[in-house]
Amino acid sequence: MSKTLIKNIGTLLSGDIECPVLDADSILIEDGRIAEIGKGIQAECDTVYDANGMTVTPGLIDCHVHVSISEWGPRQSTMHWIDAYAASGITGIISAGETHVPSRPTDAAGVKALATVSHKIYEKLRPGGAKVYGGAIIPVIGLTEQDFQDLHEMGIMHTGEFGLGNAINPEDGGKMSEWGRKYGVRTMCHTGVSFLAGSKSMTAERILGLKPDVLCHISGGGLSVEDVQKLVEQLPEAMVEVCAVNKPGTKFSQALMKLLRERNEFCRLMLGTDSPSGYGIFPHGVWEVMGMLCAMCGLEPEIAVCAGSGNTANCYGLKSNMIRVGYAADLNVCDAPKGSQCGSVCECLREGTVPGVDLVMVDGKVIASGKTANTAPARRSVRKV
Ligand SMILES: [Zn+2]
Repeated sequence: MSKTLIKNIGTLLSGDIECPVLDADSILIEDGRIAEIGKGIQAECDTVYDANGMTVTPGLIDCHVHVSISEWGPRQSTMHWIDAYAASGITGIISAGETHVPSRPTDAAGVKALATVSHKIYEKLRPGGAKVYGGAIIPVIGLTEQDFQDLHEMGIMHTGEFGLGNAINPEDGGKMSEWGRKYGVRTMCHTGVSFLAGSKSMTAERILGLKPDVLCHISGGGLSVEDVQKLVEQLPEAMVEVCAVNKPGTKFSQALMKLLRERNEFCRLMLGTDSPSGYGIFPHGVWEVMGMLCAMCGLEPEIAVCAGSGNTANCYGLKSNMIRVGYAADLNVCDAPKGSQCGSVCECLREGTVPGVDLVMVDGKVIASGKTANTAPARRSVRKV
């Protein structure tokens, strides 16, 4: 059994909305999973890291990404962009549909085949060390209940967005949401205006009829503030995403944060980027969304971390991306950047600044540290002792 200890943690942000800040300074990892969280843990270990008083967060999850095949982003002909996300501490990537594949199929057999290929690729491939959840089937007319059962049996946990295929009306897509709930395949839905990469415009009425599980980029500006409120209230089980592609500081995100606060429902909030969107990629992805929501919408940093990690893990039943015993040891050790006026990671987020990540770990193994981490350098460094 391999054992790793991280000690001398200054602030421990769990990503768990039930308990976002933990009163602990040590994490014991056994065979890639978190075995113990506590104060002053002593154990015979293969590796001991001194966090030097820095902050530990879970590895973040981008809940809205359009992967294609392997690491290729065909629309901008980009490669290795997931590596950059992973090295900045975004260690979980949820596909919202492999929509950028050139001349992608649009019939039922074709979308199922594409989802199958994508799922099987990312079961083996971890770009830059990140865990990618591909195979998000694009909902099209002609898919059957049997298809949803097959997806579940393959291990596919979700669909791509309603609105990327032609099953956009409740009479076509509504039953797919039902099949999804029956077989544990979560459905996502594009909301608001059409985007460049082939999405249809999705009105509040359409979405209410479809009853999806995840409302993508709900504060994207395509829906009115009243529509956002209507969807949050009338689809109380649905998760809601704030997305980088829509500038998360606008009045729509501000209204959404106010509404979730009033309803005590920050557990529904997830963060994504739509990367690579029809328009490009966002440096530091989820970190930027967290900073924007804290600085411009008054969200507490520890809640923002939950939205960027554990809430999404909960939505998809992942046993990772939360600092919790039994979960995969996917985590970041970070600090204010070198030269920053901020005293801590939480202060950085409150000001809308991306912290300096000094060490990124997935399944207890370091995937980036020091100069290989892809943020501004952290003020302090982790020491291997
Ligand atoms: Zn979308």
